[in-house]
Amino acid sequence: MKYSVTQKETMIGAAEFIARYRDVERFLEYCLQCPGYGKSWGCPPFDFDPCTVSDGFKTVKLMGTIIEFDEATRASCKSAEQSAAMGREAMEEVWKTWLPQLYEMERETPGSRCFTFRCVLCPEGCTRPEGKPCRHPELLRHSLESVGFDIVAMTRDLLGIELEWSTDGSLPKHLTLVTALFS
Ligand code: SF4
Repeated sequence: MKYSVTQKETMIGAAEFIARYRDVERFLEYCLQCPGYGKSWGCPPFDFDPCTVSDGFKTVKLMGTIIEFDEATRASCKSAEQSAAMGREAMEEVWKTWLPQLYEMERETPGSRCFTFRCVLCPEGCTRPEGKPCRHPELLRHSLESVGFDIVAMTRDLLGIELEWSTDGSLPKHLTLVTALFS
């Protein structure tokens, strides 16, 4: 598998970002249709108001990590299952190096909070389906979409990135990890 990784980022005031892109009720409707709903402590439903994790900040650094596959890699995917597995593998590889950098940004900026990819910290699977507490509450961070943000609109408007998904079983040209640091 061959891919390249590039990064785009921008800064915006937190009040403007929330006014333009947060709509908790609307995005909860999408979450309800997801097979992962309620299966991870990083996903709704939450036992707290999701606005509380994104309120109280002044600025937002929005980041898009773009994974671009070469043509030979895309052509090697002969089925929707292969495409999905290839995309997942690339995202998880990139995520392993990107998540520590997000934690580092938080450490360097006291009082900040990062928003991440869906929680994949536990290779053995999330404890939520067993009704047990999160193994790493100190490391768990939420994705922007899980707490009510419109990542499609924000990446298009602020980063000039159109998020791609496979609609015909092929591997998309790009996959993008959307993350943010609120400070
Ligand atoms: S850290 Fe583990 S237990 Fe906690 S939300 Fe993530 S996957 Fe689930």
